[in-house]
Amino acid sequence: MAVKDGDKVVPILNKVIEAFTRASLPVFFTRDWHPPNHVSFEAEGGIWPPHCVKGTPGAEFHPDLEVPHGAIVISKGTKTGSEAYSGFQGTDLEKRLKGIGVEEVFIGGLAMDYCVKETASEALAAGLKVDLIKDGVKGVNRRTGDSGVALRELASRGARLITSSDAVRLATRKPAS
Ligand SMILES: [Zn+2]
Repeated sequence: MAVKDGDKVVPILNKVIEAFTRASLPVFFTRDWHPPNHVSFEAEGGIWPPHCVKGTPGAEFHPDLEVPHGAIVISKGTKTGSEAYSGFQGTDLEKRLKGIGVEEVFIGGLAMDYCVKETASEALAAGLKVDLIKDGVKGVNRRTGDSGVALRELASRGARLITSSDAVRLATRKPAS
C-alpha cells in the first residue's frame, strides 16, 4: 500500500532529521507494525489493503530515509484487534517524550489525513506544542481535500504550520540559557 508521492517527503524530512541530529535534539520514528490479520485490513472488515505487516519488507522504512543511530522507533497498531493511527495510541511515546523533557514536537510523514493528523491531535491533547512540517507530509485523500481539511483543523487547535526550512532554522537556534 503506497501513498501517492509519499517518497517525495523523504529528502525533505532527511534535511530536518539531519538538522535535529546535529543539534543533539531527539528524533522519534513511528511506524505501523501490524500482525498479518490486523483489524484495519479489508479481509478483517477494515478499510485498508494489507500494509506494514511486521517483519516484512512492507513494514520497513523507505530505504532512503535517514534513521540516525540512537533514533527511537515507536511501533503502533501491533495488536490484532485495535487500530492505531496515532503514534501515541497504545504506545509509550508520551511517557518517553515527557521523560526527556520534550515540550514541542515537529511532525512530518505519512499519511497527513490519518496517522499524521491523529498523532498531531494527540500531541496537542498531551499539552505539547506542535509544529507541522507542511511540505513534509502527504495524504491519502480518500475524499478530495482530506489533507487540507486536517491541516486547517489542526491549525485551528493551535498547531503551527511551518516549512522544513523553518524546522531546520528552529533546530539550529541557540537554546535559551
Ligand atoms: Zn496501518
